[in-house]
Amino acid sequence: MQPKQQLLSLKPYKPGKPVEEVKRELGLEKIVKLASNENPYGCSALAKEKIAEELSNLHVYPDGYSAELREKLANQLQVKQDQLIFGNGSDEVVQILCRAYLSPETNTVMAAPTFPQYRHNAVIEGAEVREIQLVEGHHDLDSMLEAIDKNTKIVWLCNPNNPTGNYISETEFVSFMKKVPQNVIVVSDEAYFEYVSAADYPNTLDYLNDFPNLVILRTFSKAHGLAALRIGYGIAAAAIIQSIEPAREPFNTSRIAQAAAIGALDDKDFIKECKAKNREGLDLFYAFCKQKGLQYYPSEANFILLDVQSDADEAFDYLLRKGYIVRSGNALGTPNMIRITIGEEEQNKEIIEHLGTYIDSVVQKVSN
Ligand SMILES: *Cc1c(COP(=O)(O)O)cnc(C)c1O
Repeated sequence: MQPKQQLLSLKPYKPGKPVEEVKRELGLEKIVKLASNENPYGCSALAKEKIAEELSNLHVYPDGYSAELREKLANQLQVKQDQLIFGNGSDEVVQILCRAYLSPETNTVMAAPTFPQYRHNAVIEGAEVREIQLVEGHHDLDSMLEAIDKNTKIVWLCNPNNPTGNYISETEFVSFMKKVPQNVIVVSDEAYFEYVSAADYPNTLDYLNDFPNLVILRTFSKAHGLAALRIGYGIAAAAIIQSIEPAREPFNTSRIAQAAAIGALDDKDFIKECKAKNREGLDLFYAFCKQKGLQYYPSEANFILLDVQSDADEAFDYLLRKGYIVRSGNALGTPNMIRITIGEEEQNKEIIEHLGTYIDSVVQKVSN
């Protein structure tokens, strides 16, 4: 009764402890979760209205083609409707791509550390995973190119990268794309697209015509604040979309998710506001890191990966006792760092205060 051999090397996703349980155990009144890069401001009121309207249709299967959402999104992005594929989160589009292209004879190239689902799904398909270490938080694009051979099917670019928050510039992206053979799919995962403010961040949509092997991934889970509803999408040449569509389940995105996404797309002000507040939050963390002399990666996303000058789990435990859940770098492949999602202003100030006290105690221990 053994599953496929390759599953034996994988662990199921380990969810954090339920917040209520942690509260009880530690005797805390409130807990703030800054661990999964969720939007602290929730989602747009327009999305909520759409959700409410849809509640009378729950007995009807969703539109498997997401026609209304598709039309709206295609118009906004200025792409053709047949250049889009919707997934139960962009996670599912990652899975669909792996199912469609990877098998034991193939390999796939990615950075390390990066978003773990690329590797996870590739392993399930039995493909060889070629991981190229980041250099100072950046994708090492030259080494990634060198890793490509005749059996390479997919190369993953996480831009901005999770967990470092670094980005690949337009010049780097274009020069990379020009060197990748066109029978290799290049995925640009842009889950944090809406948060990016760097002027030289590539608008990859502009390159879909030049590079028929480019697949762009975006999601409603992060800046749009709809993580619970599970909806994300891929954008690519129509030929790619058409060829991977059979690997998609017919009713993979729900009515509620489609409706909410339609509402969310109408609220540009909400995104603008969240982006601005996120920037302010990042600046607070930068100032703190500079003041304490802590190494960090400048981030184009809604999280920051920073050095805690000690074991990441120790910092994690300390912050947990103060009511803050973060991501320990031990789980991310960066053992002395923690990843903190940028929260609301008060939350940022409070966690920075706790972290400051923690860092002071670590420094004191070292000097004693
Ligand atoms: C959060 C995240 C995703 C997945 O988001 P979904 O909720 O599945 O749409 C994909 N890629 C990266 C880099 C992420 O951080």
